[in-house]
Amino acid sequence: MNIATNIIFALMIGLFYDGTSSSDDHHEEKPTTFIDGQLLFSVKEKHLKARLSYAYLATDSARTSLSFFLTPDVKIDAVEGRNVKGHTFDARAKPFATLKIDFIDAVAKDERMNFSLAYSGKPSKGFWSEEYKWIDVDPDFMILPLFTTLENFTYQINASVDDKTFTFYDLDKGRVTEDLFFSSLTPSYYFNPILASNNKANGMGANKVMANTYNINVFSNKPDSASYVGNAAGRILDFFNTTFGAEDKVSSFSVLYRPLPYSIHKITRSFGHSIVFSKGHHDIATLAHEVAHFWWHRGDALTTEKWLSESFAEYSEYMFVRHDQGEDKFNEIMKNLAERSEKLPALLGNDRFSPQGDGLIYVKGPYLLNQLENKIGRDKFQEFLVELNRKKVETTTDLLMVLESISSAQVRKEFEEGLNK
Ligand SMILES: [Zn+2]
Repeated sequence: MNIATNIIFALMIGLFYDGTSSSDDHHEEKPTTFIDGQLLFSVKEKHLKARLSYAYLATDSARTSLSFFLTPDVKIDAVEGRNVKGHTFDARAKPFATLKIDFIDAVAKDERMNFSLAYSGKPSKGFWSEEYKWIDVDPDFMILPLFTTLENFTYQINASVDDKTFTFYDLDKGRVTEDLFFSSLTPSYYFNPILASNNKANGMGANKVMANTYNINVFSNKPDSASYVGNAAGRILDFFNTTFGAEDKVSSFSVLYRPLPYSIHKITRSFGHSIVFSKGHHDIATLAHEVAHFWWHRGDALTTEKWLSESFAEYSEYMFVRHDQGEDKFNEIMKNLAERSEKLPALLGNDRFSPQGDGLIYVKGPYLLNQLENKIGRDKFQEFLVELNRKKVETTTDLLMVLESISSAQVRKEFEEGLNK
């Protein structure tokens, strides 16, 4: 496999396995590429028409072209812009069909360039409008273009559907709506899922669950799952809000269960204060991991710096398991992590997209956090987690400074050694 294959393959496995938060309530505005999009779903024809206008911000010097992965199931209707020389769409490119747009003049770093892209077709994945009365524009299906460079962007999307029995899910606002208009809250390298459903036909419903003092919206066609998940969500929020989330409490969120089987669509992810869930409702540990991403959503996605999101969400999940199911269960998990960690290389500086990349951030990272907690004690460890959130730490370098400030230079040194061996 070439580098791009490795990146995307691992990216997809990562999403598959888990989820990535793309939200930040604090609206740290950094200039970025902005995309204004219009989507029209045709239910009967299982057809999509898309028009995307890019205010592209070059992130490197002398850019003469841009490439996107895009489903080969569409045809390109137009690529327009003053600086657009032409485009090619290679439906057979590996690892994925690739649209390449060539520029007339090179675009310098930090320079903007406007162009628009129109395409249409019948996506083979996601348009399950007959079988499950469900349309799912999941990022992994590449129905919306993904920069091959995985660069960040923000967007606003207007989506409409030609069949009024279908409505959209606006998970961020926890509601069902006829025409969808939504914006990304923070730069991300993919679009959030866009979902439309005929709720009368597939039995989907919005179940509002009050758990403790929390409001949980569970969109599901199974009322039993809704109350089970709602109650578990209450316990999870209680625990996180009184530990690392103490200074940035969350009181409501949405969980969506798709009306189609796990064997068809396995991806679970979180974005904003919403979770799209695929596992059985008893898998409360995975739910806890996704909820933890409401707080842990930092670190460069292209390197093992992603451990700042994933290892922390994973260890938060285990802390919840310890709280909810007891020390024995927790110790059993830690023993397993310790054994698997021994076979892994250093977390820092290794390839996030190597075959061991997921092991580094989902196994070794949480194991090292457990060792740190054992060394400094649970109270100090909690103080460390609160401080990381308070300072919105985005790099390992900053994390080590926080660790030193709440403990000692010696603790920092030993933890840093652990990350590097
Ligand atoms: Zn995760």
